[in-house]
Amino acid sequence: MKMLNEEGKGISYTRQKRRPFVVAGIILGFFVVAALGIVVGYFIGRGQIKSCDEGKKHDDQSDKLRKEAVEMVSTDELRSNLEYFTKVPHFPGSKENYELAKYIRNKWKEYGFTSVTMKKYIVMLSRPIKPGFVSLYHGGSEIFRSADQETFYIPSENNSNVVTPFNAYAPSGRVKGKLVYANYGREEDFDALEKLGVNCSGKIVIMRYGKIGRATKSKRAHKLGAIGAIYYMDPQDYARKEGMYRLPKEEAEKLLPQIPVQPIGYKDAYPLLKTLVGELPSSPSFQGALNFTYGVEMAENGTRTVLLNVTNENYDADVYNVVGVIEGTTHPDELVMLGNHRDAWIFGAADPSSGTAAMMELSRVLGEQLKKGWRPKRTIVLLSWGAEEPQYMGSVEWLEEYSRLLSARAVAYLNVDMSVDGNYSFRAKSAPLMDWVLAKATMKVNKTNNLNKFY
Ligand SMILES: [Zn+2]
Repeated sequence: MKMLNEEGKGISYTRQKRRPFVVAGIILGFFVVAALGIVVGYFIGRGQIKSCDEGKKHDDQSDKLRKEAVEMVSTDELRSNLEYFTKVPHFPGSKENYELAKYIRNKWKEYGFTSVTMKKYIVMLSRPIKPGFVSLYHGGSEIFRSADQETFYIPSENNSNVVTPFNAYAPSGRVKGKLVYANYGREEDFDALEKLGVNCSGKIVIMRYGKIGRATKSKRAHKLGAIGAIYYMDPQDYARKEGMYRLPKEEAEKLLPQIPVQPIGYKDAYPLLKTLVGELPSSPSFQGALNFTYGVEMAENGTRTVLLNVTNENYDADVYNVVGVIEGTTHPDELVMLGNHRDAWIFGAADPSSGTAAMMELSRVLGEQLKKGWRPKRTIVLLSWGAEEPQYMGSVEWLEEYSRLLSARAVAYLNVDMSVDGNYSFRAKSAPLMDWVLAKATMKVNKTNNLNKFY
C-alpha cells in the first residue's frame, strides 16, 4: 500500500535518497523477475509423468529455457518500464490508469499472447472533495492547522492530479473534541488505555500507522465511542473492485468507516501529540521517536481541543483489469497466474509500479521465447488489476466472476505488488505449499554486482 495513507505527508525523502532507491529498484526488480520467471518455469515444466530418459531430456530443456530467459532480462527495460508507469498519478478509475491498462494490453498483444482482454468492472471508490484537515484550538481560536497537501520535493511531482491526503471511504464530518493517543490502535493498546482509566468516548483518537490494517484502527475507536480518528506515521516506524449484483450503496456504507478519519504527517502530528499528558502504559510501549515524552490524553480541564474536518465522497467508477493468456500445449486447462495491481494513490514508484515494471519485463521475455517457438505446457495467465489501493476490488471482482473456473483449474498465483521495499534483502510470502518452490527459485538467481550469492 502506499505512501499517502501509510506514511502521511511528512515523508522526507529527497532527491538524493530517491536515486539509489530507483537503482535498488532496478536491481531488485531484476532479481524478482528472474526468480518469478524461474518459478513460472518450474510450474510450466511440471505435470507430466515420464520415463527416466524423457524426464532428463525435459529437465535439460527447461533448464536451458530458464537460463535463456534470465539472460534476456534487461535492466534498461526495467528502468524504462518503471519510468513509464510512474510518470503521472494513476488513481484507480482514472483516465491515466485506463491508459496504462491499454498500454499493457497492446504490449501483450505485440508479444504474441494467445489472448488479451480488458475486463471492466464498476466499483465504488472514494475521494476527497476538499482537502481534509486537523486543527488545534486554544479556547475559541485556531492555533495550528495541518497542511492540505504533501510537500513536493521534486517539481515534476507537483501535478494537479495528485490527490490530497485522505482515508478512503471515511465519511465526511466536522467534529471537535479532546484528543487521545492510542499508539497503533490495536486491541492491546486500547486495553492498556482502559486500564489507565483513559476514556475514548466523545474524543478524537490519534493513532500511528503500522502493526495492523488502517481500517481496523478506526473500527475499534468507533466502538469505544470516539467521534473521529487521525492517523500518522511515527518516525520510529519508518525504518523498515455491469451487470453484476452488488450491495445497495446504503448497505455497503454500513461496512465502511463510521467516523471521520484523516491521515497527516508526523510533522503535523507533532503539535497535536505535544499537548497530551498522562502516564503512558508500561506495556505495550506507546512512546514513538518524536523528541518529547508522549502522553495519552488532553487535560480535561485544559483549554485545548482538536477539530477534525473531512469532506470525502463515495462514487462509482469503471476500473479495468488486463488479462493476458499464453495457452499451454499439454495441459492448457491448468492455469499458472502472475499478477499485480496497476492503480496507485499517486505515482506508485514502489507500490505497485516496481512490481509492474518486473511483470512487464517478464512478459517481454516470454514474448521473445514465444517468437522462438517456445510454448508452455500449462497455460500462463498474466493479470493487471485496475483497483487495489482503496480495497482489493479489481482482483476480487475477477475472482468472483471466475471462482468456479479458478477453483477447478488454477495451479498457483504469484503476486508482485512491490519488487522494491526499503532494504536490500529478499522478502516473499507464500502459502506453505509454495515455500520450497520459492526457495529453489531464489537458488537459481544468478549472482550479480557485488553480491556473492543470492540464496
Ligand atoms: Zn500495492
